[in-house]
Amino acid sequence: MKTPNLSRRSFLEAGSATAASLAMAQGASAATEPRVSVPRAIGQPMRSNVQLPTTPPLPRRADSVGFAIIGLGGYALNQMMPRFALAQRSHIAAIVSGNPEKLKQVGDAYGVPPDARYTYDSFDAIADDKRVEAVYIVLPSGLHAAWTEKAFAAGKHVLCEKPMALSSEECARMIAAAERAKRKLMIAYRSYFEPHNRLAMALMAQKALGPLRLLRADHSYRMGPVTPAQNWRLDRALAGGGPLEDLGIYGLQAALYLTQEVPELITASTYQPEGDARFTQIFAHVGAQLRFPSGAVAQLSTSYDAAGANTVSARGATGVLTMDPATSYSGQKMRLEQAGQAGRDLTPGDPDVQFAGQLDHFADAIRDGGQIKTPGQMGLRDVRLMEAIYASARTGRYVRLNPDGTMLD
Ligand code: NAD
Repeated sequence: MKTPNLSRRSFLEAGSATAASLAMAQGASAATEPRVSVPRAIGQPMRSNVQLPTTPPLPRRADSVGFAIIGLGGYALNQMMPRFALAQRSHIAAIVSGNPEKLKQVGDAYGVPPDARYTYDSFDAIADDKRVEAVYIVLPSGLHAAWTEKAFAAGKHVLCEKPMALSSEECARMIAAAERAKRKLMIAYRSYFEPHNRLAMALMAQKALGPLRLLRADHSYRMGPVTPAQNWRLDRALAGGGPLEDLGIYGLQAALYLTQEVPELITASTYQPEGDARFTQIFAHVGAQLRFPSGAVAQLSTSYDAAGANTVSARGATGVLTMDPATSYSGQKMRLEQAGQAGRDLTPGDPDVQFAGQLDHFADAIRDGGQIKTPGQMGLRDVRLMEAIYASARTGRYVRLNPDGTMLD
């Protein structure tokens, strides 16, 4: 196990860092670290693989909620924005980007009027734009907290991408900002709206495997030969410790929504190879073991330097549920084996509904006042657990947890 070899001074001088995100990745108590500076939103060129719509999607209902999309990167342009066409009660009302060409190209394709195309500098004027009721934050993770706070200050509801933020201190500020603004905050955990994962939750609630004993989740891919200057996912100020916040969070989430418990004990290790330009600031792999109050034990592993994996399995006293891929955009597969019965492949529905499903869930909560399935408190809990994982890895000791995910000692 290694700790990051970047000194605190050089990290902060590298620009746009928060002390809190450094503290989180090193496992220190973020709350005790002074805030030094806020990472900056900087417009990026249009990604080369983007397909823009030929016909702009229109709102379907008179009470459809207008969203401003902030951060026109790969996930926004290739996954979420096209799925607004499938949403019943959500539509794109505005876009926000630091790149004027991208604003024009995307705005034209999605039918966003020129006066609803904001830059990072003009964003605050969105407060007076009645067409926009919610802001969807799809920026690099180190920018989530600051832009969520700005959106709440503008009086909007916020749907924020995962991870909620890079420290529990940031998450707490986001929740406080929502409360001050009397607006809603949802974390975009799309698996809660995906049929295979929903069925898995229901099966666990029915004890279809008997009492749950063992869980395993692996999420990895091999990052190309890039440097932190070329890809924010390798930049500690924007990405925290790296693969855990980006990929491993899906396995962490699955362990929690399948057990319906919060772990009471965590042990973990991280690895940061020397001489690899990809991993000068972040970890290459993170492994963690979580023990839950019921006695169930989960093994999580995640990496930016291992062949692709996206699997979750749950093993109870009398059965096994295997999901592979488990939490991807599409192609989910799951198999249930129960004692005394032949194994069955389960096909509960099209994973594609997860994207519009989460948008409409948020719109329903805004319009009808219902409970949000993936609220800010859930995002905070998960960030606390990631802090505990890093704390265990840093100290080489196990970390005991309170039921809210805070560290006991
Ligand atoms: P990306 O690099 O493709 O896009 C990021 C965009 O943010 C850029 O295009 C740019 O428009 C903007 N940006 C503003 N300031 C920036 C800065 N300083 N550095 C880099 N970009 C800056 O990233 P992405 O894959 O779209 O990820 C964006 C967010 O969405 C992240 O929080 C990520 O965790 C999340 N995400 C979620 C899922 C999911 O399945 N829920 C999938 C992918 C990404």
